[in-house]
Amino acid sequence: MARPRIRVIPLGGVGEVGKNCTLIEYRGDIVLIDLGTKFPEEEMRGIDLIVPDISYVRERLDKFRGILLTHGHEDHIGGIPYLLPQLKSKAPIPIYGSALSIAFVEAKLDEMGLSDLAEFHVVEPRTCYKVGTNLEAEFIPITHSIPGSFVIGLRTSLGWLVHTGDFKFDPTPPLGPPTDEERLREIGDEGVLALLSDTVRVERPGYTASEVVVGETLFRIIGEAKGRVILTTFASNITRIDQAIQAAYKHGRKVAITGRSMEQSTNVATDLHYLNPPDGLIQPLDVAMKLPPDKVLIVTTGSQGEATAALARIASGEHPVIRLSRGDTVILSATPVPGNEETVAQTIDQLFRRGANVYYSAIEPTIHVSGHASRDELIFMLRLIRPRFCIPIHGEYRHLALYQQLAFERGYNEAQVIIPELGGVISIGRDSIRREGTVKSGAVLVDIIGNRNVILREEDKVAASGVIIATLIVNRETGKLLAAPDVSAQQLDGQVSEKTLKRAAEELKTFFEKRQKGNFSYGYLVSRTKSVLARSIYHEAKIRPMILPIIAEL
Ligand SMILES: [Zn+2]
Ligand SMILES: [Zn+2]
Repeated sequence: MARPRIRVIPLGGVGEVGKNCTLIEYRGDIVLIDLGTKFPEEEMRGIDLIVPDISYVRERLDKFRGILLTHGHEDHIGGIPYLLPQLKSKAPIPIYGSALSIAFVEAKLDEMGLSDLAEFHVVEPRTCYKVGTNLEAEFIPITHSIPGSFVIGLRTSLGWLVHTGDFKFDPTPPLGPPTDEERLREIGDEGVLALLSDTVRVERPGYTASEVVVGETLFRIIGEAKGRVILTTFASNITRIDQAIQAAYKHGRKVAITGRSMEQSTNVATDLHYLNPPDGLIQPLDVAMKLPPDKVLIVTTGSQGEATAALARIASGEHPVIRLSRGDTVILSATPVPGNEETVAQTIDQLFRRGANVYYSAIEPTIHVSGHASRDELIFMLRLIRPRFCIPIHGEYRHLALYQQLAFERGYNEAQVIIPELGGVISIGRDSIRREGTVKSGAVLVDIIGNRNVILREEDKVAASGVIIATLIVNRETGKLLAAPDVSAQQLDGQVSEKTLKRAAEELKTFFEKRQKGNFSYGYLVSRTKSVLARSIYHEAKIRPMILPIIAEL
């Protein structure tokens, strides 16, 4: 019988930033490390999110032992509520992770009424968890930009397989435990077969700054602000939210938290005592809006310019409660995810236009620091773990290639470092690592229509199952429509009549005409086009085809 080998199959997060998901298969046991989402590229704005294709797991459910979570960021856990139902498992799927990661996942599943599909395991450091017959998992505390982050070690009879998750070596983490360097070194001593390492910041020399630096910057900006302060960041960025709350408290401001995902994550983090706001500090939004402007900090969503999130609504004057006044301060404490730069830039322009003082990373570099290891930290991890083989992950292709060079510089050779590909099987034995074919992989498109109508569309089947294409010609400067929208159907085989399409186009035209003020952002046009057409077409034809808005700028 052939000697057993470990199969590592990246189903997301290699050659791309987002939807991180790595499949590990060993002697009849399969686990997934993380199951994240990705923001669609600008030109794919007809859809809301992208999740990995996990058909490989669905077809081998009898071997599937569960999902191990490195940490609670969306690009690592966001796919779970969409993909668990797809697995159609009779038994709940075991999910292992830190208290914070598990609480985030639980809240998401609860909200969608899917809690029954998972069985949660909150893990403790320095403890071994049996996942299947031949795999044991250990979770080693590491610093990142969210507490409760882990390096995951899988113990096999061939040696350890170590997955770094997202990390940086932060000597002064403001929230959560420090890195357990001692344990990482011990595992290195015990013998590591392969290391899967975060690479996304390999281009940067030296060390990444501590999260503490951001706290100081926030403290200064909030202290100097005259009017209201509105801060946006990722909803899962608990460290940042804590820093903002503390700065507000010290400067005598009350805090209002708004935006569905922001409220959800701060509730979760408060329950777990990561956030400990003094009594009376947090106020409902409507109460906060009645306080003097210089006594208020609003923490909200939309740091990526998402058209449906609070910041974009505030910027376009469409937020039901929050109105910007001249002299108010807006802080974007996040850098745009690749693909979102233009949308974020447009939102910033609109905020300036409304007279706000806007702070973002280009003008205030320490308003956000990366949560990822720079070059010297990647080398330090390599020296702690001392693996026989290296697999760079969590990065665009150039990051993976640069990590390979870094490994070569540290004495590794061609036979020891493999640049992974989506769906490409990497087979690891005691003395060799090699490619071994591919499995089905790719992107599943999550289309959220109207009020939580979630439809998953497999990328390769979208065109065949029919799409509605809406073309809008707009003025590049103002975003105003220059012609009536055109709506057409492709491959829908008469399911939608010409009359329905005409009526939908009319409704779209009327909708934008009613919003006379213009200055539409790209994201706004796309998301409203989608929702208006989805409603109209469903009403007439009772189908929910994919809607692809195409915005042509003149
Ligand atoms: Zn992360
Ligand atoms: Zn990540």
